[in-house]
Amino acid sequence: MTAAPPKEIAAASPHVMNTYGRVPIALSHGDGCHVWDVNGKRYLDALAGIAVNTLGHNHPRLVPALQDQVAKLIHTSNYYHIPLQETLAARLVELSGMTNVFFCSTGLEANEAALKLARKYGHDRGIARPQIVVYENAFHGRSIATLSATGNAKVQAGFGPLVEGFIRVPLNDMDALRKATEGNPDVVAVFFEAIQGEGGIRPMHAEYLRQVRALCDERNWLLMIDEVQCGMGRTGKWFAHQWAGIQPDVMPLAKGLGSGVPIGAVVAGPKAAQLFGPGNHGTTFGGNPLAMRAGVETLRIMQEDDLLANASRVGAHLRAALERELAVEIGNGRVKEIRGQGLMIGIELDRPCGALVGQCADNGLLISVTADTVVRLLPPLIMDTAQADEVVRLLCPLIKAMLGAAP
Ligand SMILES: *Cc1c(COP(=O)(O)O)cnc(C)c1O
Repeated sequence: MTAAPPKEIAAASPHVMNTYGRVPIALSHGDGCHVWDVNGKRYLDALAGIAVNTLGHNHPRLVPALQDQVAKLIHTSNYYHIPLQETLAARLVELSGMTNVFFCSTGLEANEAALKLARKYGHDRGIARPQIVVYENAFHGRSIATLSATGNAKVQAGFGPLVEGFIRVPLNDMDALRKATEGNPDVVAVFFEAIQGEGGIRPMHAEYLRQVRALCDERNWLLMIDEVQCGMGRTGKWFAHQWAGIQPDVMPLAKGLGSGVPIGAVVAGPKAAQLFGPGNHGTTFGGNPLAMRAGVETLRIMQEDDLLANASRVGAHLRAALERELAVEIGNGRVKEIRGQGLMIGIELDRPCGALVGQCADNGLLISVTADTVVRLLPPLIMDTAQADEVVRLLCPLIKAMLGAAP
């Protein structure tokens, strides 16, 4: 059989808005940790649709469950009870130790709900102009409110006036947090990612998390932790903040919760769970039976297959292999740091490295580069150590070449 000529992927789509600098490939199908493009070329997926495809592709237990659900009921409306919402909420409550859940469809919507909860919390306590502490380099989404909370001038450029009511502080600096909020009676919440994702895989330190929790208790502020990217087992615990032994008052989730089906959730503890009543918040698609089934089955399979332990074990293996393979570059400072936890890993180079995304794709590997200089690995949580070794084998020569060392 002669191979069909490769299909050309148009550099610019004539009808889809030009919002992404896209890698010039189009993917057609996947299986496990691999995807194939329309020309039949295979790629090892170390990005998982940006921390979304928790169970990889074409999972043998997820797919039949979704097929079953599609045939039964895809969407109703939140005008009616949706029993699968109760099932998924009960599970999230159990895993988080928190009490109530609101379902939506994306990360920014979960964060938007968190911001509304914080403002309502303030208004209920007589604070007319509530303020929320947010962080440098944070990413919370691209709606007007969530991009205002985002700490990235590039994301905000062209979209002012921004939403007011945010106070911005640096990461892991208790003194700065105390100083920025000193004597300010309008502060109602502190809001951050336990590990910044888009900001370059930058973790909040466990000790800092515990100190912020204590400060929020002391001042009666809500602690709101955006686990949209770092949550759902990626770090080896269900939620990244659990490594610090703390519990937030509000926790937005999305990305990995439905293994690819759009889903978001905001989980609330006792201080925030009763703030919304009928009419305060809503969504048409949020919590629909298909998305809920995807969440329920994803959590079930993660539990059955102990994917948290897998994320820890394979993540540690991957990180150690990267450190070994890049030892020279770490020694001479061209690789500045390898950061992260479990299967959320960032490799910070001493220079912009966006070109690696296309080079890796040419080499059969899907990755991302974020914050200009950080190679980001977010593979499916089903990845095994042999596949992790393959990531290292495909990636490291390209990093070395980019850094000007002999590959
Ligand atoms: C991706 C992301 C968001 C936004 O999620 P969308 O589903 O793209 O709206 C918010 N917060 C964090 C930490 C994210 O990584």
